[in-house]
Amino acid sequence: MASIALKSFFGLRQTTSENKSIVLSKPTTQTHRKFRINASKSSPRVTGRNLRVAVVGGGPAGGAAAETLAKGGIETILIERKLDNCKPCGGAIPLCMVGEFDLPLDIIDRRVTKMKMISPSNVAVDIGQTLKPHEYIGMVRREVLDAYLRDRAATAGATVINGLLLKMDLPKSTGSPYKLHYTDYNAKTGGAGEKKTMEADAVIGADGANSRVAKNINAGEYEYAIAFQERIKISDDKMKYYENLAEMYVGDDVSPDFYGWVFPKCDHVAVGTGTVTHKGDIKKLQIATRLRARDKIEGGKIIRVEAHPIPEHPRPRRVLDRVALVGDAAGYVTKCSGEGIYFAAKSGRMCAEAIVEGSENGIKMVDESDLRKYLEKWDKTYWPTYKVLDVLQKVFYRSNPAREAFVEMCADEYVQKMTFDSYLYKKVVPGNPLDDLKLAVNTIGSLVRANALRREMEKLSV
Ligand SMILES: Cc1cc2nc3c(=O)[nH]c(=O)nc-3n(C[C@H](O)[C@H](O)[C@H](O)COP(=O)(O)OP(=O)(O)OC[C@H]3O[C@@H](n4cnc5c(N)ncnc54)[C@H](O)[C@@H]3O)c2cc1C
Repeated sequence: MASIALKSFFGLRQTTSENKSIVLSKPTTQTHRKFRINASKSSPRVTGRNLRVAVVGGGPAGGAAAETLAKGGIETILIERKLDNCKPCGGAIPLCMVGEFDLPLDIIDRRVTKMKMISPSNVAVDIGQTLKPHEYIGMVRREVLDAYLRDRAATAGATVINGLLLKMDLPKSTGSPYKLHYTDYNAKTGGAGEKKTMEADAVIGADGANSRVAKNINAGEYEYAIAFQERIKISDDKMKYYENLAEMYVGDDVSPDFYGWVFPKCDHVAVGTGTVTHKGDIKKLQIATRLRARDKIEGGKIIRVEAHPIPEHPRPRRVLDRVALVGDAAGYVTKCSGEGIYFAAKSGRMCAEAIVEGSENGIKMVDESDLRKYLEKWDKTYWPTYKVLDVLQKVFYRSNPAREAFVEMCADEYVQKMTFDSYLYKKVVPGNPLDDLKLAVNTIGSLVRANALRREMEKLSV
């Protein structure tokens, strides 16, 4: 079973329609560069102004969406409740994000080239061995990344409002606007802000896992993990060890269904864990993660404690009329790795591109069919990746013996290459049939050993 899953994993990473979108919003260093769309659609023209779109939430999804909209001729308003928001997050981003989103290297704290995968019995496997000299996993602080993307959206022409969306009135008739009620903290009225409303032709909900936009369109709920993280300042000496190295810990102690991590940042490490099934135990799991890394973080000072939900799967509804959800609001985090930053920025951009295209650069009204194009493209491009990571999580995170097998498998260079290539580039890397076969045999071997070990352990605990 595992071998089939792995084989599909390697075969199903796709490049197909992605290329088109890259051409559409080709990253440039000139953030003002506009792009033109020639579409043929019989939607009514917007008169006296351009299409107005409100983007709610200024994380990676909102920042990327707002920049693309503004560059595409849309009147864009980005509402973010906290402009210095430190989103609780490990901040690991794939190499392709740096290129695709034209990120300057000075916003990346660390370039990780060594990753240690550590088993329940503390067997450590180094899994960065196949990386080429220019390849790395980027480590960012979210307050830095998010502010950068938002500022770039503003430079492209978006109006950024420091405001909290309270609720949204849906249009009363076809083509009439959405009315957004929000607290505006830009106003010089003290900390409480000022209640205001604004109208928009379309709305992008990029307001994260607790999305109010999603509630307003009855998008439905999703299962979620709770993730906990501590930023720990350690001595310069200890920091040297983590200079370009990250750690992932697996085991029932750190998480029954996820993993614990130590990710390096500019002057501290981020230590965290997550779980769907044992949310009430999250602090206990965090202590266990800290304990596993104790030799390396000893004497460290906790400088920040943070926690946040991570969606487990897409919401039942992601588009309604002229409202679309992107990023965590839509539920785009992969299982197994818990990765969501790239997918947030990517979905924000993809959704905005669909609006720019459907509105012919802001001169025509959009409708649900325009927004659905974003969904179709998204699902076609990424659905297999989500599915495969879901299967991998079920196979390898289910028990300590299975995790031991997983770590054992990670020692294989072929596994490392395929895993890193798919993580770093998010696209199809053709597998080598002979190595695929070898891997399948090894995987089955590891799992058989894992199951035998589990049976032995079960006997012991009777
Ligand atoms: C502890 C933890 C560790 C993680 N580690 C990683 C990792 O290493 N790598 C990775 O790729 N992913 C990681 N993730 C997942 C990643 O953080 C998310 O997938 C990503 O932040 C989603 O981006 P987003 O823009 O959709 O939402 P968010 O980043 O949540 O941004 C939403 C924004 O909307 C704003 N907002 C919310 N409500 C309102 C409102 N009503 N009005 C106005 N503004 C509002 C918020 O202030 C916020 O700025 C981690 C998550 C957690 C919790």
